[in-house]
Amino acid sequence: MNILVINCGSSSLKFQLIDAETERLIAKGLCERIGIDGSQIVYQPTGGSKEKKEVPMPDHTKAIELVLEALTNDKTGVVKSLDDIGAVGHRIVHGGEQFAASTIITKEVIQAIEECGELAPLHNPANLIGIDACRKLMPNTPMAAVFDTAFHQTMPEEAYLYALPYEYYEKYRVRRYGFHGTSHSYVSKRAAQVLGKAYEDLRIIVCHLGNGASVSAVQNGRCIDTSMGLTPLEGLIMGTRSGDIDPAIIEFIAHKENIGIDEIMDILNKKSGVLGLSGNFSSDFRDLEDAYLEGREEGVRAMKAFAYRVAKYIGAYTAAMNGVDAVCFTAGLGENSPLIRNMICEKLGFLGVTLDQEQNNRRGEDLVISTADSGTKVLVIPTNEELAIARETYALVGKNIG
Ligand code: ADP
Repeated sequence: MNILVINCGSSSLKFQLIDAETERLIAKGLCERIGIDGSQIVYQPTGGSKEKKEVPMPDHTKAIELVLEALTNDKTGVVKSLDDIGAVGHRIVHGGEQFAASTIITKEVIQAIEECGELAPLHNPANLIGIDACRKLMPNTPMAAVFDTAFHQTMPEEAYLYALPYEYYEKYRVRRYGFHGTSHSYVSKRAAQVLGKAYEDLRIIVCHLGNGASVSAVQNGRCIDTSMGLTPLEGLIMGTRSGDIDPAIIEFIAHKENIGIDEIMDILNKKSGVLGLSGNFSSDFRDLEDAYLEGREEGVRAMKAFAYRVAKYIGAYTAAMNGVDAVCFTAGLGENSPLIRNMICEKLGFLGVTLDQEQNNRRGEDLVISTADSGTKVLVIPTNEELAIARETYALVGKNIG
């Protein structure tokens, strides 16, 4: 069965068509600037050349129409008709406490996702637009929702509660949810396979280091803590997000700069992180690495603070699990930067970590990068959220049909 995986943002839409039985990627692409001037679709069938086309896309329905046309047309299409797409898997950012697992999309599910929208006002509405557009164009195709938060729903109360008046949890469900769950789940399971050990027997720390970054502690196959919170702003230093700060800074800066809460939130989300730390030099780690290697102050400051924060979380989660068997790196930076892995692992002497530099310099595959006698295993596992979404969707749709 071919599964169309859709990841819908407010002005963009990423898609992949995956053969669920063989797990082969059939085609992938991206629609950008939806609802804005200059919208374009990028489409690439596996083994074929990449096509870019500027086409007006006033809304997501038009974008999905173009995606379906690209997948089925006579020239570059990869399937004969829409009947060859057996199911659609949608990435949904926030599933609140309602969703601890993926689910088939029904009217009730859509309503529940709408309710969670209050907790993710930037993301869930865009995800829902994607669902709505697909339902219009493929009314009889089963669809599944796969939530970024679901994997973290196993966290114990002591890890997910904030020390705020308890009524805020009772009234508004203010608590830690965590994000990137599909990636943390995929990577931790894959790490167990690579190590040839039972998932249920391991204590794994996953460092998902991309533009958005988070760490999670996975003990005996269950997530017990993660660094992002009510929203994806908490935890690690990120490309443009501050991660952990003293909450009193908000009031302090508001007074000093005479600005309101909306502007402060914008600063914390879009102007902080390594971008802010580097004095607006760059949010892209490739630029920061170059600057670091040239000894430029902007790069050194940002990279060192970033690595320090990751190591600090690894220490904390080692304590949370009373030890750790494997530390995994994934996502854009985690998968591609031997330098950042070295900078972080240098701080893990207390875990007996030593890296095999030859392995650390390899790329693009599942790797154990620690030496044979390293006290803790260190791995690089390229994440594949789309494949994980396709698997979840296939499992659900298969079950439903069967
Ligand atoms: P997101 O999905 O959150 O946008 P990604 O997982 O795609 O993020 O990661 C993007 C980040 O990874 C960027 O900051 C980018 O600079 C960094 N990155 C990608 N390739 C490399 C590389 N070869 N070396 C260092 N950093 C890299």
